[in-house]
Amino acid sequence: MDYRICPSCGTTYFVSARSDEKIVFHVSDSSELITVPGQAFDEIYLTIDPLRFYCGACSWSGGMHDL
Ligand SMILES: [Zn+2]
Repeated sequence: MDYRICPSCGTTYFVSARSDEKIVFHVSDSSELITVPGQAFDEIYLTIDPLRFYCGACSWSGGMHDL
């Protein structure tokens, strides 16, 4: 499976928030949210706003449509 990349730095890691409560995830090329192992899959869709999330490696933020 291929992952979409941050348009700014090219990483495949994204986070749901800039806080300790964040969830780390990837976005697949078919726009699925893929959690990094160890986190509850069901919670990802309740916690992540697909129109507003953050790069895990740089200061980029945006939505699914920007990737
Ligand atoms: Zn980035």
